[in-house]
Amino acid sequence: MKQIPYWLDTAPALPDRSGKDMPDEADVVVIGGGITGLSTAYHAARKGARVILVEKDKVGSGASGRNGSMCTQGITISTAEARKRYGQQRARELYDAFRDAVDAVEEITRTEEIDCDFHRAGRLAVAAKPRHFEAMRSKQRDLAENFGHETQLLTRGELKSELSSDFYHGALLDPDSAALHVGKYVHGLAEAAERAGAEIHERNAATGLTRLPGGGFVVETLHGSIRAKQVMAATDAYTDRSLPWFRKRLINVGSFIIVTEPLGEERAKALIPNGRLVVDSKNIGHYIRLTPDNRLAFGGRAAFTPSNPASDVKSGDILKRDMTASFPQLAGVRIDYLWGGRVGFSWDRIPHAGEVNGLYYAMGYCGHGVQMATYMGRAVAEMMDGRPEANPLRGLGFPKVPVPFYNGTAWFLPFGGAYYQAKDKLR
Ligand SMILES: Cc1cc2nc3c(=O)[nH]c(=O)nc-3n(C[C@H](O)[C@H](O)[C@H](O)COP(=O)(O)OP(=O)(O)OC[C@H]3O[C@@H](n4cnc5c(N)ncnc54)[C@H](O)[C@@H]3O)c2cc1C
Repeated sequence: MKQIPYWLDTAPALPDRSGKDMPDEADVVVIGGGITGLSTAYHAARKGARVILVEKDKVGSGASGRNGSMCTQGITISTAEARKRYGQQRARELYDAFRDAVDAVEEITRTEEIDCDFHRAGRLAVAAKPRHFEAMRSKQRDLAENFGHETQLLTRGELKSELSSDFYHGALLDPDSAALHVGKYVHGLAEAAERAGAEIHERNAATGLTRLPGGGFVVETLHGSIRAKQVMAATDAYTDRSLPWFRKRLINVGSFIIVTEPLGEERAKALIPNGRLVVDSKNIGHYIRLTPDNRLAFGGRAAFTPSNPASDVKSGDILKRDMTASFPQLAGVRIDYLWGGRVGFSWDRIPHAGEVNGLYYAMGYCGHGVQMATYMGRAVAEMMDGRPEANPLRGLGFPKVPVPFYNGTAWFLPFGGAYYQAKDKLR
């Protein structure tokens, strides 16, 4: 079994972008080479800015290369919660932004001819409990009447034609959500950013940031300092101590994925005949999909510890047990890949983007970053170009995690996890 992300292992080999000389000046410095940073670099460079992106490790080595490769519709909180917090009109605007974000991924893959298997596979939100299915009925109505989003309700019987599992009590099918190969997508974005003129410097961390009195910044990096008119923090859950303001506002949640051996087309089709993306309705739920080469990828929160080789193995065992409970026909199937990563959550479970003391940022996607990171990278490039109204998340603030002395180490997560796991066990 390989303890590396399937998506990075099956993408074409990356060029080495390390060891380059750091220029003295740039218009824009982007910190972080995930989807947010690459999308910002791409869009800003296309506007004619001289862009330097610095990445601590390799492009895609953060969450962007290690996720579930699902590009799904829908906001990170329930529509009822969004309406309660922000009012119907603002809730609708936010909902539309998440939908437009999926379109943004499609557009960039088309424009830049990124061969990453993007297709509108559709997503099944499957009900883990009978009452979750009842809640889906009113959700379907609300989505159609107030958010202009048509979905399809599938009873337990109807679900059989979509998913070969007796575990679930029905589903809500969203036909517009998309699947992609995120390893190939991230590589394609990096190449597109370079074609647009951005320079990518790998294995070069930003270590400090000084705001200059006349405007702009000096960014200290491992390989020298650089003056920049504008700087973008695109570090999400991998934010280190060089950007403490964000660490007080983000919670890193470990998420883990196992991928089976190739099952063959017939067996894979028998499991998920229409190749849908599957997400279950528990608090500590699972996300499930087929890979382009007919393996099953099965992900979830599993162990409530940060990802490291030992906790990944522990999570892999939990996920294998859960996978076999949902799909008993997979008992005995070999697991070929196992990995974990950090998902960036904000306290109010909504992504945040804007400008703080002249520094631009977009992060806290709460598990919806494949599409939102792409979209927010584009929005930040617009904001840097003098259009603050391009930020669909404007006005939402970015609350601190209200835990005394919190500085990014979420010691309380195992307690929250145990609470939600216990809730999931109740009927
Ligand atoms: C297991 C898992 C499954 C997920 N599944 C899904 C899914 O199916 N669909 C979905 O939409 N989202 C999913 N997500 C979330 C999604 O992957 C993220 O929201 C998204 O990738 C965030 O992108 P980003 O570019 O903002 O951050 P990242 O991809 O995390 O990139 C941040 C980068 O910043 C770099 N960095 C940090 N500090 C510095 C520094 N000082 N100097 C230079 N570089 C620095 C890091 O090395 C890293 O590469 C999942 C996440 C995980 C972990």
